[in-house]
Amino acid sequence: DHRIARISSAIRVIPDFPKPGIMFQDITTLLLDPKAFKDTIDLFVERYKGKNISVVAGIEARGFIFGPPIALAIGAKFVPMRKPNKLPGAVISQEYALEYGTDKIEMHVGAVQAGERALVIDDLIATGGTLCAAINLLGRVFFFSLSEFGRISICFFFLFFFSFFSFSLLLVDVR
Ligand code: 5GP
Repeated sequence: DHRIARISSAIRVIPDFPKPGIMFQDITTLLLDPKAFKDTIDLFVERYKGKNISVVAGIEARGFIFGPPIALAIGAKFVPMRKPNKLPGAVISQEYALEYGTDKIEMHVGAVQAGERALVIDDLIATGGTLCAAINLLGRVFFFSLSEFGRISICFFFLFFFSFFSFSLLLVDVR
């Protein structure tokens, strides 16, 4: 696709940012080129329109630039996945490992319903850790869509199941 070359050359590479040895892919120069920016959005829209996607989840911060135009064009809602302590309502969060330490992303409870089909948008995949965290977060929506009674019942079920399981193992051991 001829558009890929234009998109690729519109992304500026900055060596040694934010630390030595990193070749930072700077998408702000892509945003300065309306044709390349539009081509980027169009490529995603062509690929995902009509695929029954009802949610576009954008990862903070650059997923907030590319996600909304894609969401509008494919007729889906936009759900921001934010850094910790930014969302005002009740949240589901997902921790993930960084090179040093951990980070978290959060989403409002109720923003996505169980059974919905989601497209996750960010500007770049390096280790894939952020994207995996976003996918795990969306995967846990089913649990959070249950009533409090449902969630507590599931927890009790697993608690009893594992205590029974360890009790049986103990019995086997004793015998
Ligand atoms: P990962 O979790 O895949 O290791 O890192 C991806 C995340 O880090 C994305 O949210 C992305 O915005 C950010 N990131 C890492 N390296 C770069 C880079 O070179 N350029 C840009 N624009 N974002 C980066």
